[in-house]
Amino acid sequence: VRSVVVVGAGLAGARTVAALRGGGFEGSITLLGAEGVEPYDRPPLSKELLSRTTPAWLRDELGIDLDGEDARLGEPATGLEIAPHAVAVRTDAGDLSADAVVIATGAAPVRPAGWGTALTLHTAADAAALRARLGPGRRLVVVGAGWIGAEVAGVAAAAGTEVTVVEAGAAPLATAVGPTVGALTVPWYAAAGVRLLTGSTVRAVTPQGAVLADDEELPADAVLAAVGVRPATSWLAGSVPLGPDGSVEVDAAMRVPGTGGRVLAVGDVAARVSPRHGRLPGGHWDGALREPDIAAATLLGAHGTDGPADPAPYVWSDQLGHAIAAYGLPRLGDDEVLRGDPAGAFTAVWFVPATDQVRAVLAVDRPRDVAAARRLFSGPRLPHLDRTAAADPDRPLRAR
Ligand code: FAD
Repeated sequence: VRSVVVVGAGLAGARTVAALRGGGFEGSITLLGAEGVEPYDRPPLSKELLSRTTPAWLRDELGIDLDGEDARLGEPATGLEIAPHAVAVRTDAGDLSADAVVIATGAAPVRPAGWGTALTLHTAADAAALRARLGPGRRLVVVGAGWIGAEVAGVAAAAGTEVTVVEAGAAPLATAVGPTVGALTVPWYAAAGVRLLTGSTVRAVTPQGAVLADDEELPADAVLAAVGVRPATSWLAGSVPLGPDGSVEVDAAMRVPGTGGRVLAVGDVAARVSPRHGRLPGGHWDGALREPDIAAATLLGAHGTDGPADPAPYVWSDQLGHAIAAYGLPRLGDDEVLRGDPAGAFTAVWFVPATDQVRAVLAVDRPRDVAAARRLFSGPRLPHLDRTAAADPDRPLRAR
């Protein structure tokens, strides 16, 4: 491989450039971006929504230096064409031909049809627009109590904004962690002074606020739609097959099957196969950080004898005064074992039904369990744990 086009200048795209150069690649790289600014970090957009007004540049945060690279930060890709010996990426400024393309276009927030006045939070510009509407005496309606909705509700309420969170599901975070564990976060809302409506749907968003399905009106200075994201793949227009959730499905080496290893995908846009966990959806920072190392090793033929690395899924969130960290990926129907105090610091452990195999661990305000969980998922297979030990908060989470 002598030339690579990387599409998307977020964390995954920037890390791909850094990983290729770090691996000794001396060929040509073109990085295409859509935002017109240098790559920056997104987690602070919600966690430091009110305290930080300049982006957390990846140059400063991670030392990613694009000086000397062909970085076209305001030149989005508009199409992809795969030929037997090369691939071409279309842009409005012309076509770019390369030996390989790495798709790193991330995901874009969903804004339901007709919610024209609702804000979303994905870019630094989005954060600035939201910040301008918050403050003491202002009212915010957050639709969706997922990772981002919960974080924004907490920081906005802490700064004196009157916050209502409307969640269609039975509990916050239920899509990610299931209703039982999600329900344990319900008291956090009242404690933070946030009104939480579960099992409630927004019927309309107007310039005056939100209207619920039962016609209750929630007047607001801002409505934030935090109802999930979709992989940003419209520009691919059928050139590569997409999975059921709209993501670009790749193998364990980050290659799109059927493209002769010329098209790879990393980060939020990609769903990779993990030998340990099966198909992994994108959507978390750590994947966008690490998958580029795998992709670069694939392009450079630099995988070790064990094959591509298989980093465990990892997500963290600071919400409503609590630190959440999770490793692995639970499945619907897994057995849940709780340790600690469900009303305080607790950890949930998900077992493959009727076995001692652990699929995921989520810790709330229990840093020791986070470190233990990281170790548990560092091996090639799901770890085995004694269920009685797992339920005892005073015994360490140690594989047997
Ligand atoms: P993105 O960051 O979405 O970057 C993709 C880039 O590609 C974008 O700049 C986009 O403009 C560009 N692009 C799109 N289409 C094109 C095109 N056709 N041509 C060229 N460029 C294109 N994760 C956690 O694990 N923990 C957290 O606490 C956490 N907090 C978050 C808080 C917020 C507010 C947000 C928005 C996300 C958070 N995340 C968190 C998720 C994390 O930020 C993402 O997983 C990560 O940014 C994914 O990186 P990416 O490069 O794959 O995609």
